[in-house]
Amino acid sequence: MNKISPLRWKEWLESREFAEQYDYDGPLGPEYTPQATTLRLWAPTAEKVSVLLYRNGQGALAEEEVALKRGEKGVWSCVLEGDQDGRYYTFSVTVDGIDRETVDPYARTAGINGLRGMIISPKSANPDGWEKDNRPNIPPKNRWIWEISVRDFSSDLSSGVPLAHQGKYLAFTDADTTLRGEGKFPTCLNYLKQQGVSYVQLMPIYDFGSVNEERTTPRRYNWGYDPVNYNVPEGSYATDPYRGEVRVQELKQMIQALHRAGIGVIMDVVYNHMYHWENPLNDTVPYYFFRQNPDGTPSNGSGCGNELASERTMCRRYILDSLVYWASEYHLDGFRFDLMGLIDVDTMNAARAALDALPRGESILMYGEPWQGGASAMHAMASDKGNVYLLDDRIGVFSDGTRDAIKGSCFDAREPGYVSGQWQSRFGVGDSVTAWCRSKDFCPKTPGQVISYVSAHDNYTLWDKLQRVAHQVPDYESHEESVLAQNRMCAGIYLTCLGIPFMLAGEEFARTKWGEHNSYNSDQTINQLDWTRTEKYSDLVAYYKGLLGLRAQFPRLSAWDAHTPNAVQFMHMAEPMVAWTLAADLEDDTPWRKIAVYYNPLPKDCRVQLPEGKWNLLCNGTDSTLWQYSTPSIEGETTVMPVSVTVFGMR
Ligand code: CA
Repeated sequence: MNKISPLRWKEWLESREFAEQYDYDGPLGPEYTPQATTLRLWAPTAEKVSVLLYRNGQGALAEEEVALKRGEKGVWSCVLEGDQDGRYYTFSVTVDGIDRETVDPYARTAGINGLRGMIISPKSANPDGWEKDNRPNIPPKNRWIWEISVRDFSSDLSSGVPLAHQGKYLAFTDADTTLRGEGKFPTCLNYLKQQGVSYVQLMPIYDFGSVNEERTTPRRYNWGYDPVNYNVPEGSYATDPYRGEVRVQELKQMIQALHRAGIGVIMDVVYNHMYHWENPLNDTVPYYFFRQNPDGTPSNGSGCGNELASERTMCRRYILDSLVYWASEYHLDGFRFDLMGLIDVDTMNAARAALDALPRGESILMYGEPWQGGASAMHAMASDKGNVYLLDDRIGVFSDGTRDAIKGSCFDAREPGYVSGQWQSRFGVGDSVTAWCRSKDFCPKTPGQVISYVSAHDNYTLWDKLQRVAHQVPDYESHEESVLAQNRMCAGIYLTCLGIPFMLAGEEFARTKWGEHNSYNSDQTINQLDWTRTEKYSDLVAYYKGLLGLRAQFPRLSAWDAHTPNAVQFMHMAEPMVAWTLAADLEDDTPWRKIAVYYNPLPKDCRVQLPEGKWNLLCNGTDSTLWQYSTPSIEGETTVMPVSVTVFGMR
């Protein structure tokens, strides 16, 4: 029975005495050599700790139990002689008279459903050539992010991926796949290469709890925002979730294949809450890793029942250790922080410094959601929108302002945005162009701190949102020109904004979830990419590709310096049009000295006056590839199409 109350724990764990006695910066976790493995666990409040060793990841009793010895700073350790590769283990930790069996918070891999950790020789799970794998060098002008879940990428039967790989890490290793295997429309990795995707952002790939790894069926689906083991890959994406080495090897194979295609891999990390209150952190040092209300009960700023206390020294250290581990062991190219508003500013800045210290670590992207999921007991400075100026200028945030100004509220399905008749939103669109660096209510230091986007895994897909604004009874399968024009215009706006462009995978082929706005546990069929739409909406796919190519041609749109936002010059236009020019930097490698951009949300042609000089049409409302051809230059007045983005360049 518990003798110590949650409030008493809070007082003790937050006291200066506790920090002085137990804050620790030495090694933790398993240290493998072929001769012996050392285990180290930080458990200062424990009375007794032992390790239970198993042959398998589930079933059967322990083969052996070895006591750990308490050392300085509350670190318990033991040495297991001999080659322990492939051995499963848990700790038995006794705190306040209660024994709990738990996975090592530093476990590198695990058996089925993450019930037991597994000791692994890191090299044994490396695919061929892994030592030569490197993070690709992706210059800012090519940076844009395509968000996908491993499972959604290839679960569609028409994906052309072998059945055994569908929904798995290994689907990313299949080359030259096409729609239904017909050789015409590229799918999966082949598609990413054709489309010029530079970064994929993967929805959770750490071990999460909401999908039973023993039986995955189309009905048992979850995005996985429910961490169980922070440093272990998810098992349901591996071809064999029972053997701990398989998920490690196959995840590395996937990253290797993407890197070979020149594509960076960004991991979605959820260091804000865990699936259950019973978890490896809380079972090891009860209450320490979780933020507490004034009465000691768990704070719930995540809306999921608990939240990590990132500001407590050893919790901050744990988050940093985990990030550095993923970045160095799996060669990841970036991290997207879920509910970053629940992580304190000091922890985020320390994470930036820790990643920067890795070889070429400064190129690792960091950005997150600058908000929380509910009321939090947090006292430290939160990494939210209001505090973005306190974050390192290479830590970015999603701009909900950009998202909602362009397409309308993400919560109110029927509320229009700028592209669908909400003229008031033109001010927000103007702020979006300069990545909010000239606005008053949100103060990023540089455009590199802003993620410019209109759709992500949460809320309606862009296509569904536009359909719901346009129609009382939406037709998600339609091919109507007016909605397609709005879609092209959304893309044209945020892909000409400063900042880092981001899109939900399939936005460029009118991805639909049939009006479902929160599909976190909907059927796989709702969530998976429908590759047949790349054929049906091939014009839209081409329009996105052309815009991305154009963006790369004018590097200043992707500039990370603080001066560029001030170089954007808005022209005086009649409401509701927005138009602006931007001169190239002298050092930029670009065919154009200056661009002029016109946003016309009106459903009719509009006459506009070009700024002085000779201009070439680079992109209009239906063709974004004009920049690839030599078009005659024009000056004076010209016409822009209805519901369109038009870009001119001056040589
Ligand atoms: Ca799992």
